[in-house]
Amino acid sequence: MLEIKDLHVYYGGIHALKGVSISVEKGEIVTIIGANGAGKSTLLNAVSGIVRYREGSILFKGEPLPKLPHLIVKRGIVQVPEGRLIFANLTVKDNLMLGAYLRSDMNGIKRDLEMVYELFPRLKEREKQMAGTLSGGEQQMLAIGRGLMGNPELVLMDEPSLGLAPLMVQTIFKVIKDIKSMGKTILLVEQNAYKALATADRAYVLEQGRIVKSGRAQDLLDDPGIKESYLGVK
Ligand code: ATP
Repeated sequence: MLEIKDLHVYYGGIHALKGVSISVEKGEIVTIIGANGAGKSTLLNAVSGIVRYREGSILFKGEPLPKLPHLIVKRGIVQVPEGRLIFANLTVKDNLMLGAYLRSDMNGIKRDLEMVYELFPRLKEREKQMAGTLSGGEQQMLAIGRGLMGNPELVLMDEPSLGLAPLMVQTIFKVIKDIKSMGKTILLVEQNAYKALATADRAYVLEQGRIVKSGRAQDLLDDPGIKESYLGVK
């Protein structure tokens, strides 16, 4: 579904991605794990059009992706950004509806709002509350829900568990599996390597802008090098 080949991204003189190639098949959860500054967000931002790449190619369903973010959303790719970036002074429902701003299929929008409320009953309870007054975990739910309101085929998730309490982390990873079972495809960037590998089908390890390892997520969970470097197990 998504085919990234030999991608190079620069920020001025900083060579942030040095020839990254990854693929994501329809219906999979694929995770990119790596330390701070490895280039994980840069990779997602290159797919969603927020960051320009200098070399390489990105194919989505066999065709080159457009360069402009709103056209990429229209093609069926939505990013749930790191740090949530919700609109604090709008209600929960208005934030969700903003996720559908490029759509005109009113029935589909209504159906997807119901679906998001089923996935996150907490958001339904709080639909009239100002988003800025939600807890961190609820804001993360809202950011994911807003992404789903764009009716994406491919969901890009940047560190969805960042800064959340353990119970909320469990909830978010369960929801990621629920989203997969809705037929969606997920590319997940995480520093919580253990949870990410336990949730994903396949994984890539990014180090200093290069993919250094890839494989079935379960196999990487059992890999001694991964255990030592990313799972804190000796
Ligand atoms: P983290 O987990 O800390 O978010 P990351 O793996 O997502 O890290 P990126 O945010 O992609 O890493 O950053 C990769 C490299 O590019 C880092 O060295 C970072 O300092 C640099 N970088 C990222 N964004 C910019 C920018 N806008 N301008 C200059 N350098 C940047």
